[in-house]
Amino acid sequence: MKIFGIDFTSTPGRKKPITVAECELKQGNLILQEIHALVSFDEFEDFLKQKGPWIAGIDFPFGLPGAFLSTLGLPHDWPDYVQTLTRRSKAEFEKRIKSFKSKHTSPYKEPLRFTDVLASAQSPLKLVNAPVAKMFYEGSRKILKSGASILPCHPKKGNRILLEAYPALVARRFAESYKSESKDTSQKKSARKKIIAGILGPGLKSEFGFSVEIEEDKKKEMLDDFKGDTLDAVLCTLQAAWAWYQGKPNYGIPAENKSLIRSEGWIVDPSLNLQTSGIGKKPKRPSPGQAPETITDKESDQGKVRSLLDKLTKLTDIGLALSAERNLDVLLEMIMEEARNLTYADGGTLYILEKDKLHFKIFQNETLDIRMGGKNELPIPFPSFEMNSTNVSSYVALTGKTVNIPDVSKYKDHDFSGPRVFDEKFNYKTQSMLLVPMKNNDEEVIGVIQLLNARKPGDPKKAIPFSNENVRWIQSLASQAAVAITHVSLVQEIRKAYSEVALARDMAMEANAAKGKFLANMTHELRTPMNAIIGYTEILLEETREKNLVSIHEDLVKIDNSAKILLQLINEILDLSKIEAGKMGIYLDSFKIQEIIQSSIQTVEPMLQKNKNTLKIQYDDTLGYMVADMNRVRQALINLLSNANKFTDNGEITLEATRTKKQDAPWVVFKVTDTGIGIPHDKLRSIFSEFTQADSSINRKFGGTGLGLAISQRFCRMMGGSITVESEVNKGSTFTVQLPAKVMPFTPPQRRRSTDLT
Ligand code: ADP
Repeated sequence: MKIFGIDFTSTPGRKKPITVAECELKQGNLILQEIHALVSFDEFEDFLKQKGPWIAGIDFPFGLPGAFLSTLGLPHDWPDYVQTLTRRSKAEFEKRIKSFKSKHTSPYKEPLRFTDVLASAQSPLKLVNAPVAKMFYEGSRKILKSGASILPCHPKKGNRILLEAYPALVARRFAESYKSESKDTSQKKSARKKIIAGILGPGLKSEFGFSVEIEEDKKKEMLDDFKGDTLDAVLCTLQAAWAWYQGKPNYGIPAENKSLIRSEGWIVDPSLNLQTSGIGKKPKRPSPGQAPETITDKESDQGKVRSLLDKLTKLTDIGLALSAERNLDVLLEMIMEEARNLTYADGGTLYILEKDKLHFKIFQNETLDIRMGGKNELPIPFPSFEMNSTNVSSYVALTGKTVNIPDVSKYKDHDFSGPRVFDEKFNYKTQSMLLVPMKNNDEEVIGVIQLLNARKPGDPKKAIPFSNENVRWIQSLASQAAVAITHVSLVQEIRKAYSEVALARDMAMEANAAKGKFLANMTHELRTPMNAIIGYTEILLEETREKNLVSIHEDLVKIDNSAKILLQLINEILDLSKIEAGKMGIYLDSFKIQEIIQSSIQTVEPMLQKNKNTLKIQYDDTLGYMVADMNRVRQALINLLSNANKFTDNGEITLEATRTKKQDAPWVVFKVTDTGIGIPHDKLRSIFSEFTQADSSINRKFGGTGLGLAISQRFCRMMGGSITVESEVNKGSTFTVQLPAKVMPFTPPQRRRSTDLT
């Protein structure tokens, strides 16, 4: 079987190539055949593309810590994650890593991957200023592109297999520091010598199951390479060879289906082989006399590693579960449960800090069988308490410090009346206590986890102090819990604020609809008598004219004028309220444009004389027909022409109509220009709002309601067109109406209600 060991580097070149050791594993012998130097990423990709079957151990971190990926919203699945990265620029990726680090404090600043913890290695995020970004950015892409199976992250079926190796893990069996970036020392050289002797010696064979054969000249090359790349590459081959040689399914990768392992990789190494039962060639353990001490020691390490691994996996699982929970009560209960499980604590309380008070949220006690707070459970009868440093929980919340009390009876630093009262009341004995603050990303305390009476695993009756390890687990849990609580609380606040806004909007919409309805009814009621008043006034006017009753006639003229102004106002309000209520339809008709121009002029002509204005009409005979709501187009034109007249004295008004094209569709454009008072620049938008005039003196001087433009604009919009204005104070204004020559039927837009949104 062909076995490769690849010592990866993030900047491959002639000076620092990617070093590859090529070996053959046959009949229990791993024979080093060749050392290759790959001087570019492309050569690296080509190398990985070479025909299988082969298996390679590569010193390259598969993935980044899950905590980092989750916080940045990057996919955990390796291929997706690599592809997401490649869609972003390298600079952006580096920026994200830096910003993650700046927002977190140790140890969350540089979280460890699953594999890093196992190998006692550094977090890949620690190397950010080294070209780690490039390592991931370029290296991951090439690895994925090569199409090799990346186990367990991208386990395609194939006979080119890549596994994450960690050469220092094998080297550590024989010596510690053995390489140098700049210059060699005799210590480093002798360390390399020891390592080479170690891997060729009997201990390694008994642990890995095969012997290693290296020719003299290659041994010399490994020894002389003070950068350690050649030796590292060979050490990588040992790990890959072992993964293959042990003959276990999935190369011995434990819980290969676990998403965590799939995203963060797995380092192959017998000392990390946590699956004890296996098939095939299970390596024989060395007998005490036969193996070097460094190897037999691993037996006990293995137990430690296993327990560490179990807890780490658990903590990560808890973190993922917490971040997925959306119900605050359930979340708090989960946190308490997990804190108790991790430490075998008998009971505990979870407090949340709100408005400078600590509130009891969850209270549990296994011995007394009490569960209060949380989902569907008993409310907690204890009152919230003010923050003061005499009380131990508020001391923790105030200072952000963890307090571990092995024996409360001997503890004098803080007030203990609470637990004592509790003990008396429930005939309980509080002995050990652990209080850990929950801090959010800004290092603010948002609550406290308090645990009571750690129990000896397997002996629940015995209360023991909380160990330092327990403290670390709970601190780690507390920081994950704080992030999850903050997240859920924020979501709840946003939801609440949103529903309040939505409710207010619904109420406003209802009030508006009621107003619209009232206006529509009222104006309708007023219109009938107004029409009667105007009708009778006109009859009386004729009579008084005939009978020459001059003074009565003058009064009647005033009544007639006022009544007509009032009727116009009523009509405008009615139009507006119908539009608002979505009840104003448009009635499409085909008509000659010239005709509505003429009829509009007829309406405004009598007014022109009063202000001594002249009117110019400009259009050519090709104007033709349009399909639109004729009355509404006319209403808009009359409004613009009468405004032009109203705000111009002794001047000129022009109505121009043209036919144009917009994206091949025919349009009609009307322009009404005057030489009047003009409109200040800052009022050009507001004049289209209801009841708005350019300034308050307008009404006194010129009358009017401020409704005409608002209505005209809405009509034009309903027909798919617009009204715009250009103006200069004291020079005049131009209002432009643009309408499609063929208006399409209009459907009023549906308004959404808050109930639609939830
Ligand atoms: P009204 O004319 O009844 O006040 P409009 O909605 O038609 O209401 O016009 C709103 C305001 O726009 C007017 O009060 C006036 O201030 C300004 N305006 C409209 N047309 C002109 C114009 N041609 N010249 C100057 N100001 C105008």
